[in-house]
Amino acid sequence: MRRYLVAGNWKMNTTSASGTQLAEQLAAQTIEAGKAVDILVCPPDPYLIPVSQSLEGSGIKLGAQNAYFEDPGAFTGETANEMLLDVGCTHVILGHSERRHVMGETDSLIGSKVQSALSKGLQVILCVGELLEEREAGQTESVLDRQMQGGLAGVNAASTHNLIIAYEPVWAIGTGKTASPEQAELAHVHLRKWLTDHYNSDVGDSVRVLYGGSVKPDNASELLGQPNVDGALVGGASLKAELFVPIIEAAVRLAQG
Ligand code: PEP
Repeated sequence: MRRYLVAGNWKMNTTSASGTQLAEQLAAQTIEAGKAVDILVCPPDPYLIPVSQSLEGSGIKLGAQNAYFEDPGAFTGETANEMLLDVGCTHVILGHSERRHVMGETDSLIGSKVQSALSKGLQVILCVGELLEEREAGQTESVLDRQMQGGLAGVNAASTHNLIIAYEPVWAIGTGKTASPEQAELAHVHLRKWLTDHYNSDVGDSVRVLYGGSVKPDNASELLGQPNVDGALVGGASLKAELFVPIIEAAVRLAQG
């Protein structure tokens, strides 16, 4: 049985004061919810420590939005997996579409990062998703296959227990356009089949596949209610407790049947 994960990607938003206030609100408002579903927040790196202090004792997990694949050393401006572990992170998002399409990260770089983060004991949320023109050209599945192949090139079946996939159609991120529940379910089934074909059915059945792309309180239940949607990676709506908590509560209701 896969447990729901509702993850907030704060991107390059918040201040120390607003981030800790948001974390405190989430901690106070999800005491019961945290028993039924997993909750994660991914603040910007400079706020990981103050946010972790605000989350203390709450059960809400802490993650980062990126990490480099090398061990600590001469890599100016980068953050090592060891550093994330040192400040209390359990998770890291890798291959987010903004890193792919704004920073130009390749599948091969993302693959190195995934392999490194898993080997250090972090849980990895590997994001995959097609551009609008790729969907319109009927290339959604081949794009997902390429991103899975590149992102998981060095990952063996045993390491997948710390792997989470996020299907995030690029055309739905921050646009207010959401994949329909049917579009999301089809992509998730495809990703699960990829995992089964490349590893085995245990991996295909157990790895969580999150949906991301304009998830809001009013569409969360329908998206999360799809059989192969195991949670949400939430951007904009994770920045306000009054939007993020109802998404978490939608997952709780579904988890409790
Ligand atoms: C994201 O950044 O991963 C995301 C899904 O953003 P939004 O929810 O704002 O579309």
